[in-house]
Amino acid sequence: MKRKDKWLLRSSWVPAIIAAAAFFAGIFAAPCFGEGTGKLRQVTNVSSANTKPPSDAIVLFDGKSTDAWTRMNGERCRWELLPTGAMRVRGGSIITKQKFTDFQLHLEFKIPYMPEAKGQGRGNSGVYMQGLYEVQVLDSYGLDSKDNDCGGIYRVSRPMVNACLKPAEWQSYDVLFHSPRFDESGKMVKPARISVLQNGVWIQDNAEAWKRTTASMNEKEQDEKEPGPILLQDHGNPVQYRNIWIRPLGPTVR
Ligand code: MG
Repeated sequence: MKRKDKWLLRSSWVPAIIAAAAFFAGIFAAPCFGEGTGKLRQVTNVSSANTKPPSDAIVLFDGKSTDAWTRMNGERCRWELLPTGAMRVRGGSIITKQKFTDFQLHLEFKIPYMPEAKGQGRGNSGVYMQGLYEVQVLDSYGLDSKDNDCGGIYRVSRPMVNACLKPAEWQSYDVLFHSPRFDESGKMVKPARISVLQNGVWIQDNAEAWKRTTASMNEKEQDEKEPGPILLQDHGNPVQYRNIWIRPLGPTVR
């Protein structure tokens, strides 16, 4: 054996070579958590939790009536009540009659299968906290999700992982929300904060919603300092919702 080959085979080099290979493989294969441009980990084997409302929850939709909701202009909710216990988007976005500040929200949604549609036109709806901050509802199954995909806080925070199920399957969101805080002069000292579990998987971790979503309630309709409604978006796609309940934190319900 040549002297050069003996040098390469020296045992002391082997662990270093293995460690270097593992390091570079790790960099390129590492999942991305929220920030950055890496490819999101796809979380599979998830399921929608059809969770019954706890005893202290306010039921916002139980499959029998849309009475807790109105259209944006205060008129009666026109969403279609289905015999399956769901309601389907129709006739404009809707808001709850009650307003909330900080809360835990549970809801389930079903995105239609729209193979011909693309991007933001593929099963778009959305859940707005305080009427202002949207957690996107969209067919983002299998995608390297961005901040405008399902589970994203629209144009503010990308989900940490993709936990989406296929369209036409029921999915769930569990949202923990803190409204923004202001000092005595009216200056915001803490933006709204949102944590989300999608299909039982943690996808948003206390993300700061530092701006109201573009298509949210406007400044005349909803002051950021005031309690606000839950808003479900009509984006022209027949998305369904069911089993919606909320647990406000503290004596903040109006
Ligand atoms: Mg939307």
